[in-house]
Amino acid sequence: MSTSATCRFCGAVLTESFCDLGLSPLANSYVSADQLDQGERFYPLHAYVCSECYLVQLAEFETPEQIFGDYAYFSSFSRSWLEHARAYVEQTSARFDLGPSNQIVEIASNDGYLLQYFQRAGIDVLGIDPAVNVAEAARERGVPTLAEFFDAGLATRLLAERGPADVVLGLNVLAHVADPADFVDGVRTLVAHDGVVVIEAPDVRELVARRAFDTIYHEHLAYFSVTSLRNLLRRHGLEVVRVERVPVHGGSLRISAVVTGNGTRPDGSVAEALAAEERWGVGDAAAYRPLVEGAATVRDHLRTLVDDVRSDGAAVAGYGAAAKGTMLLNYCDLGTDSVGFVVDRNAAKHGRFVPGTRQPVLPVEALADARPEYLLVLAWNLLQEVVDQEAEHRGRGGRFIVPVPEPRVL
Ligand SMILES: [Zn+2]
Repeated sequence: MSTSATCRFCGAVLTESFCDLGLSPLANSYVSADQLDQGERFYPLHAYVCSECYLVQLAEFETPEQIFGDYAYFSSFSRSWLEHARAYVEQTSARFDLGPSNQIVEIASNDGYLLQYFQRAGIDVLGIDPAVNVAEAARERGVPTLAEFFDAGLATRLLAERGPADVVLGLNVLAHVADPADFVDGVRTLVAHDGVVVIEAPDVRELVARRAFDTIYHEHLAYFSVTSLRNLLRRHGLEVVRVERVPVHGGSLRISAVVTGNGTRPDGSVAEALAAEERWGVGDAAAYRPLVEGAATVRDHLRTLVDDVRSDGAAVAGYGAAAKGTMLLNYCDLGTDSVGFVVDRNAAKHGRFVPGTRQPVLPVEALADARPEYLLVLAWNLLQEVVDQEAEHRGRGGRFIVPVPEPRVL
């Protein structure tokens, strides 16, 4: 399949297909009870790798406003994510010697889960998040938050009103940005000359290695390598000075960048990461091919596994009503006859239904009544947390099905 779509960063025509997952509903558009008798829209889900700047991205489909208007994701609902946040704040505060005279701006600050820790350390914080309901939740816990989309225009306004920021954080946001050039332009405007920009984004190499095709969905417009991120930042006057790997969202890159020419020299991690990506084949579509082949293999094996279990009379429930769960259930065509319901700790999702496959989302407590023999761990990035929490399920002989990189039973 070819397309006339162009790279959302450099404008080159996209010719190299990376992964074509067919049609899919919007992963976070949970269906309410009164929508059950209505249809749903499915959209093409086809990723490309740009042969000029190596940015891996979805071809444009429809307006992203539709995706983010009623975004029900609240960061604070995952315990391991909160622990990651707390450790991150301690590390960052010490490394940059942050104190009451410093200002941190976080883009896509969600419900303030991260900024609250900086705030407790006496640092001046500002959150920005376009989802009105999550920005409101942040303000309720005392974290000042603007309910707006971050772009170059907003950055100019903030600079005039508040002055430059010592730290600009963008954790897991760049992948959601339709116009990354404008976004990075804004970041460059906002950060102080001696400040630092910290960006976290899922690592495309990990995506391929883990066959994590279920993290490809419409809200994720791009997938990054150090090489493509550096290309992107450089064009907008920012230089990558440090690369770290963090074990969130199945393996992410954490990039620290500074204003070009401010005197900070990149440490050895940058050259090392670039060399490793070159050896891997970051500019070569062949390096990405194991992902799409892996997706088909996972689908076939998982379907067989669930069918076998079901024909033995056992019940299967899903754990974790996250976006990747929607993708997995839909791509593998696991409807309510295969996976009866899905549980999640987030009360905002209870009483709703998974897009496409329509499993009801129930509180975790529902497992004690239904007693399914198998739990399909849709939130596989939280596997250990799920296994630890479900001691009762284990206690009555319940098993866990882990879908990727290869379906297996624990
Ligand atoms: Zn490009």
